[in-house]
Amino acid sequence: MKTINVVSLGCAKNLVDSERLLGSAIRNLGLKPVAAPEEADLILVNTCAFLTSAVGEAVEAVMELGRAKKPGARLAVCGCLPARYTGAEGAEMALGLPEVDLWLPPNEYPNFEKLAGELLQAKAKAGTPSFSAQNLPLGGRVQATPPFRAFLKIAEGCDNRCTYCLIPKLRGPLTSYAPDFLAAEAEQLAAGGVRELTLVAQDLTAYGFDREDKGALVKLLRRLSGTPVDWLRLLYAYPERLTERLVKELASIPKVLPYLDLPFQHVSPAVLKRMGRRQVLPPLELVEKLRRWWPGLALRTTLIVGFPGETEEDFQDLLRFVREAAIEHLGVFKFSPESGAPAAALKNQVPQHVKEKRRRKVMAEQRKISLAGNRRRVGQTVQVLVEGPSEESELVMTGRASFQAPEVDGLIYFDGEQPAPGELVDVQIVKAFDYDLLGRVAE
Ligand code: SF4
Repeated sequence: MKTINVVSLGCAKNLVDSERLLGSAIRNLGLKPVAAPEEADLILVNTCAFLTSAVGEAVEAVMELGRAKKPGARLAVCGCLPARYTGAEGAEMALGLPEVDLWLPPNEYPNFEKLAGELLQAKAKAGTPSFSAQNLPLGGRVQATPPFRAFLKIAEGCDNRCTYCLIPKLRGPLTSYAPDFLAAEAEQLAAGGVRELTLVAQDLTAYGFDREDKGALVKLLRRLSGTPVDWLRLLYAYPERLTERLVKELASIPKVLPYLDLPFQHVSPAVLKRMGRRQVLPPLELVEKLRRWWPGLALRTTLIVGFPGETEEDFQDLLRFVREAAIEHLGVFKFSPESGAPAAALKNQVPQHVKEKRRRKVMAEQRKISLAGNRRRVGQTVQVLVEGPSEESELVMTGRASFQAPEVDGLIYFDGEQPAPGELVDVQIVKAFDYDLLGRVAE
């Protein structure tokens, strides 16, 4: 029996693709998964190439996996690297990485089984098929996350045109996956023990817009709420489309956690305009309204500092927003001029040291906000999904509450009882740290 090893780099959306491709390979190609690339007949590496730094990491990983190939083994590279480097640039990349046997950009995933099957039999490659949500390889997924939680990628690509972003070029236009496909996948994941399903896409609020169905996200969530999962969590909601009606509808759906990740990126109207970001309400006003429309809502956002032309005044506006909005979880990135993205060619690029200084200032502010928010939780009893023993000690368990998304937010550490990973338990918060909390299992 031939074997496969899958390495997934980058974000949760990539991870879902990797899980789907591995499921396909096992069920429909009869491959057996192995943990070490050295043992595999087919090594599949799913790459991130959204930023130049990610390209470097992806190329390094490909080279390392090339060295790990046993004689006769094949190496396939999928994801953003083959999507970003096409034409002459792609040919140059292929020349520099001769250890790669198959380049598989996302628009070829529907043909994965055919191409991988032929590759293992050393036949010629097939042509490029067109992508559609209906012809994704659906051989079931093989989860790389712990059995009690999974990501559900509900769409590919993006129709927005943020000037700093290569995603529309790399992943194509918005393609919403069919609700039947997603419901079947959610049922399958739930049957395997998943209790928390985190929905991801480049822009969740656009789900269904390519099918002219503007209520599709709410309908999908209502349907997913009928599956045996306990928690539904939403990441990546474009702020513009978060209307009072949509937010109140989301809040009313059973199992949808009061948690939203909405990337603001900036607050200065001039910077947002150059970023190509649309907004209806000023960010601070939207945050205040969201909290009113959805009581108990926890927010996460991402910001970009040092965008071309960002003045000290723009930055001070951003810092004031960070202080006043007091968003529970916040990540900040330095603008990275990616070749091919319109913002790379904008005038008034901000020097690297200024970007770094601004990033540190935002993070210092956020640390205080996070600690103050955590202190307000001391004394509360919250429901926690148990992750498992902490890295520091087998005797201390970790878990997350509704206000903590997997892999990006903090954790709750607790001792006392030792519930199994995946159990839901009530934990009383007893102490606050900058980003984490300490608690004990409630009586
Ligand atoms: S919303 Fe903007 S930043 Fe996000 S993937 Fe689409 S174009 Fe890129």
